Amino acid sequence: MEKLAQTKDFCPNAACPDYGKLQDDQSKANLKKIGKTPRGVQRYQCKTCGKTFTETKGTIFYRKHAQEDEILEVLALLAEGNRISTLTRVKGIKEDTILSWLREAARHADQLEAVLMKEYHLKRAQLDGLWSFVANKGEKKLSRDR
Ligand SMILES: [Zn+2]
Repeated sequence: MEKLAQTKDFCPNAACPDYGKLQDDQSKANLKKIGKTPRGVQRYQCKTCGKTFTETKGTIFYRKHAQEDEILEVLALLAEGNRISTLTRVKGIKEDTILSWLREAARHADQLEAVLMKEYHLKRAQLDGLWSFVANKGEKKLSRDR
């Protein structure tokens, strides 16, 4: 299993030399806090690459793509009954991409469930609906309503 790390634990910029380096493992942390968004989300800046990003609710898989927190959010939205077509429109993510994320997620279901329930407050039935949706991938929406 991959190690879970919060976004704030490392630079999520894949092009950055410090990408994926946990702050705890470094003598000098490269991330600094730079205030909050209007919605109160902590913002960070990487001193190495200069990129700024926010501490999201997402937990991402250390050593995997920084995309993972977006993937988790999409999973949560799907589990809550949103259609893929809606997410495609609102988030600008291709349907094929979302479907590939779902397939990947299904392989990590046990681990993801804990994160989704804790961070996204999803319920058991919503998760069951999500996985059965993945099993029937290609369907345009979740069969289960919220
Ligand atoms: Zn960086």
